[in-house]
Parts: sequence; C-alpha cells; structure tokens
Amino acid sequence: MPPRHRPPEALLAALTTGRSRSERLTHTEHLPARPARHSSWPDSIRPEIVASAQALGVERPWAHQAEAMKLAKTGQTMVLATGTASGKSLGYLAPVLSDLLDGTEAPNGRGATALYLAPTKALAADQRRRAAELVPSRVRPALYDGDTPPEEREWVRQYASYVLTNPDMLHRGILPAHARWSSFLKALKYVVVDECHSYRGVFGSHVAQVVRRLRRLCARYGSEPVFLLASATTADPATTAERLTGLPAVAVTEDASPRGPLVFALWEPPLTENVGEHGAPVRRTATAEAGYLLTDLVEAGTRTVVFVRSRRAAELVALQAQDQLGAPLAARVAAYRGGYLAEERRSLERALYSGRLLGLASTSALELGVDVSGLDAVLMAGYPGTRASLWQQAGRAGREGQGALAVLIARDDPLDTYLVHHPEALFANPVEATVLDPDNPHILAPHLCAAAAELPLGESDLHLFGPSTAQLLPVLEKRGLLRRRGGNSWYWTRRERAADAVDLRGSGGNPVQIVESSTGRLLGTVDASAAHTTVHTGAVHLHQGRTYLVQDLDLETSVALVEQADPSYTTAARDITSISVLGTDTTIDWGEARLCFGSVEVVNQVVGYLRKRIATGEVLGETKLDLPPRTLRTRAVWWTVTEDQLLDAEIPFDQLPGAAHAAEHASIGLLPLFATCDRWDIGGVSVPLHPDTQLPTVFVYDGHSGGAGFAERGFQRAEQWLTATRDAIAACECDRGCPSCVQSPKCGNGNDPLDKAAAVRLLDVLLADAPGRAAQAGDG
Ligand SMILES: [Zn+2]
Ligand SMILES: [Zn+2]
Repeated sequence: MPPRHRPPEALLAALTTGRSRSERLTHTEHLPARPARHSSWPDSIRPEIVASAQALGVERPWAHQAEAMKLAKTGQTMVLATGTASGKSLGYLAPVLSDLLDGTEAPNGRGATALYLAPTKALAADQRRRAAELVPSRVRPALYDGDTPPEEREWVRQYASYVLTNPDMLHRGILPAHARWSSFLKALKYVVVDECHSYRGVFGSHVAQVVRRLRRLCARYGSEPVFLLASATTADPATTAERLTGLPAVAVTEDASPRGPLVFALWEPPLTENVGEHGAPVRRTATAEAGYLLTDLVEAGTRTVVFVRSRRAAELVALQAQDQLGAPLAARVAAYRGGYLAEERRSLERALYSGRLLGLASTSALELGVDVSGLDAVLMAGYPGTRASLWQQAGRAGREGQGALAVLIARDDPLDTYLVHHPEALFANPVEATVLDPDNPHILAPHLCAAAAELPLGESDLHLFGPSTAQLLPVLEKRGLLRRRGGNSWYWTRRERAADAVDLRGSGGNPVQIVESSTGRLLGTVDASAAHTTVHTGAVHLHQGRTYLVQDLDLETSVALVEQADPSYTTAARDITSISVLGTDTTIDWGEARLCFGSVEVVNQVVGYLRKRIATGEVLGETKLDLPPRTLRTRAVWWTVTEDQLLDAEIPFDQLPGAAHAAEHASIGLLPLFATCDRWDIGGVSVPLHPDTQLPTVFVYDGHSGGAGFAERGFQRAEQWLTATRDAIAACECDRGCPSCVQSPKCGNGNDPLDKAAAVRLLDVLLADAPGRAAQAGDG
C-alpha cells in the first residue's frame, strides 16, 4: 500500500469517530496556508554564493533571509527567530561565507575567519555538510570537537577559516589555548550561535560567560566579531540574544517561508478505572494514547511521526502500534532514537521519505534528520516543554500546498491539562522566553578565574562580565584563587587549569555514580542535588527501562550500589524543607497581598521513604533514613496574604496548609509556561505562618545555587502566571485533586495535605487587587 494523502480534516474526523473519542478532542485550530514572500539577493552577497544557492534550488531568498543577510553585513548583532524549515542557515551562511571568500584573497589566504557554535556535536556535523554544499573550495570549513584527532587539530588551528564547534570545546579547548589560536582569533569576523534558545537556565548562563571570555580575547587580538544567532520562535528573542552575548541585538522574526494549511488538534486521554494517590482519578498515559492514534493513522496509509520524551517511550509506542496492526502493516512502523549510528538513522529517514515506512516513534525533533519533513501527520505525546520545541515538532508536518495534521496529546499533569483547555496559550502570542541569568555569582566566579588564567583581568574587564564582578574579585582573592598585583590586575596563580573547575552542563557537586554491585558496571550518574531523593538506600531506581534496587548510597565516595530487581512497589522519598529569607530585592503590593523577589536559603533533609504498591498506589510502609541536611542558597519569588484576606476567602486556619500547598504545587507546574524551565528545575515551600514574613507564605525557588532566572521570570509575570495557576486548578474535572491539577510527582510530603477548593479561593483573594483584575473590575 503506498502512502495516501488525505486532507487533515478527514484524518481528524476518522480519529474522532465513536462517541468517547470525540470527547477527547478539546480544541481544533485551523492555521491557514502562508504564501512565500521573496526578496532579491543583497548586493553584498558574493555572486559565487548566490550561484551555489541557485544550483541547490534557491532562486531567490525569502524576505527574512535577505533581511538577516543585510543586517549581518552592517555588523549588527542579529538574531533570526523563525520557524522550522525557514532556511535560517542560509540567512547567516550567505554573509559569513561571502566575507570568508573575500578573506581568501588576502596574502595569507586567511584574511577572515568565522566560528560556529552548536549545542550538540551532531548538529555541528550536519552544518559542516551544509556549509560544504554552499562554499567554493577556497573556504575551508572544519569540525573541532572532542572527536577531532590530534593530528588534525593543528591543521584546523592554522588553516581552517570556518570552524564548527560547541560551547564546551570553546570553554575547555580553545579559549585556554588562545595563543595557539591567535591567527584564527585575529581574523575572526563572525560568531554564529545556532539553536540559541537551547542555551537556557544554568547551562545558558555558563555559555553567556564563555561568550564574554571569547569577546575579551578577540579584543586583545584586535578583532571584534559580529554575533549572528539563530533561534526557534520564542518570546523576546532580542533580549535573550543580548543576555547571551552582552551586546545590543536586533531580532528578525517575520517568517516569509511558505507553509501549507495545518490543522492542530488538542487531545486529552480518557480517565481509566485505576486510582492513584489518595484515590485520585488517573488518565490513560499520553504514550498509550499515541500508540492507538498511530495505529489508526498507519491503517489509513498516513505518513506519521510520533514525538515522545524518552527512548523507552519511543520503543513502547512503536511496539504497541505493531501489536495492534499485525502483519503486514506492523513492519511499516519503527522506533527512532538517539544512540543509533548515523547510517541507521539515514536509512530510517530514507524509508520514511520513500513511504516504505509509514509510522515512526522518535525522541526529539533535534535528533531527527533535517530531511524528515513534509509528513502528513505529527503526534506529540506530551507537551515538549516549550513552545519553541512544540512548533519545531509540529513543523515537520505539511508539504507546500498540502494540508497536514498535528495533534498534541496531554499528559496527566497541570501544565498539559491547562494547555489543552486553554488553546490561546499556544496559538496566541508567544508566552515563554528563553531564560538565563549570567549575573549569578556562582556561575560567574569560575569564569572569572578561567578568564584570569587566559589573560590577567584588569579594570576594563569589570564592565564586560557584569555588575557582580567588582564584588566577586576580592572574594576570589581571599579564597586564594586570584592574586592582585600592581594595583588593579588579577592573576590566576594556581597550578591546575582554571577551566577544568567548571562543567557547563553540570549542576554543581560531584555526580553520584550508579554501579551494579554484581558486575561493577557503571550504569549512569545522577546529579548530587537529586541523589538523596532518587538513589537513597532502599530506593527503587529505573534506568533505561530496567528496575534496580539501591543497596547502599555511600556519600563519601559518591557511589550508589544497585542490583536488578523486580519489586511490586515503587518508592517515594519523604523530606522536610525549611526556607529563610536572606534579602528582599523587590516587592509589589496587590492591595493587602504582597509579592516579593529576593535571596533565600533552603535547607532540605530527606528523612525517609514510602513503599507504594505499583498497581494501586497503596502505601505498604515507611522506612526512616539517616541523611544529612543539604543547604541551597538561591533566588525565590514568594507571596503573602493577610489574615483579613483569609477571612474574606473563608479559609479557616485548618484549611490553610492544604490550600497553600495545593497552590504551590500547581504554580510550580505552570511556571514552565512563562520561563523555559521544567518543574524539576524549581522547588517550592508553603508555610501557614512564616517566621520571616509573619504571614501565610508560598515560596517558589530556583533549584540551582545562586538561581537560574526562573523565579525572577515568575516574579515579572506573576499576575499571568498565578492567574493561569488558579484557572488550571478550577478547571480540572476531578473532585479533590489529582495529578492534572494539584498533586505533584516530586512532593516530599506524600501530596498531603492538599485542599483543591480552598486553593482556588486563596488564589482568588491573592489576585483580587492585581492590576489586571482591578482594571477588569473597573471596566465591568
Ligand atoms: Zn484534578
Ligand atoms: Zn508538596
């Protein structure tokens, strides 16, 4: 059977036949086709580049590409933030390659160089191929990463004019050895930062400091490269680009590439017979629902990709569809995930392209080859975390001139549930921005050391590294890391390499190694910050689909010994958390209610764990643990209400703990709608009477030392965020709280107490005098 193209409306109608199926469709959005808008090639682009692009089928650039090219040539820091398949690479490559070509006419053949940064090695390799298609052989592109053989490295440093690498390699390999890169850095005209929306949170803050170190060294070698950034569509890409580079940036966001019409459906899986914690109703999982829908689509001959969050889920969805389809159609469904060899991936992509494969379950759009687009349907099992990823995945559907179907299937959590019932949050203006906080002193300090090791720090560098720098330098001196000489110069004086002290992707502290006791095999690692809750002695630990029991967690050696097991229960850690306010930066009053942003100290101790029967969630017993408390100094947003407000809201004191706790959980679940974090990046504490505020208080804090910008973003968008939280709880169809609204999978208190109804009243009274609400009331 060849693949069949059917209009997306017909596909959706077929999926929703049957009464119960139609109830699962919560919204259908029709996105009209968008015609292409073309521009002419800017004069500043070399004719050789234009000729190669035309040979590849690009007769004229789209308007946004041409605009990006012009901005780049004026030396303006620029971020191109448009959709999937909108040709962002050509937008930055044409000006970069034109200048590199000019540079080949210099006496040494290397009058200009450019650096390309990708978040992953695989993406850099992809881009190396693209550049090669477009450039005349005189421009020499080269990969430089951990896999580059030592004998090639010297050649790259001396001769390559377009070097493709990643931020980790720049930080660890290139900047500390800048003297050997001097001829490359002297001629550096452009730095391309691709997929820049992936530089978020702690990782993004590190990368921002690496970029500042690069800029400082370039200045020393007499160059001032232009930064060109490419981003998926997000809110406020110019601000993100500015935080990342430290330079004023202009954004190009008007996408002029053509798109076929897209039908976008929002889908909520049905409730099952099963019950969860405290008897809460439980929905069918998004992956199981995706398996059913994939089966139907493949039966109809529709070319479909399902995006899931984990490798295991990819295998499960493919298996389920194969089971339901039976021979011969089962052979036309496969799983696709990271970890496959390049040849295996290409062969699956080709099979899908040719129609030999009809259904593919895949982990992430970034891993999926760039050539896989033009599908008839895309299913997303769970919100992929950001609108940027959502559109990246949905963007795989649809060929020019033909319609396609995209379906977002909700998982059983507050954010997904909110989204399938509030389509405006997805289809109106973009709501989330890529959040990072380069000024976090915990992140800045090691980069100041690394910078001082590269070249002594001077007075003139204070501004470049941001406002915390001046206060940090004396602290680093006191700790014996830097030495001050001749007035205001700071030197790195230790023998070890300063750059080795920081891992851009780590979250601080030694990770705990998970070791299989019978074989001594290393299975993986968990972050130090998560070890107490996930791999304590007695914990049931899942790893790549297998179940292990932790025999012993040794904190001295940072090793958890495990053995494979098949227990009939799961475990959930119990902890106690206290929080104290170290300093308040900003406050806003909403009538009697008050919102604050500032610094806090969180002390958390895992004190035991519960064993729960897998099938029913029934608690089988509690075991005590003897683990030391852990202290985290970080940034938080918190809010308080007064006793009078509680009276107004009819919340007696015995309901207050459950109301505040439920509001805290749901607000943590909804914050990712406004900041690019997930609920595991943040934590919360709710207190009926907090010693520092003397009032009922709910805190939400960044889960990383010094903060990552998430709580700050929550404070800035507090009214929208807490309104969405209130609406998500109120709209949930459960009676007394469930995972879709107020229950949290990471609660250290066994989701107890939670009071759903009182939480809505508490949030109502909190928001009553917020400016937006007050304006509404005034209008009405
Ligand atoms: Zn609920
Ligand atoms: Zn909790």
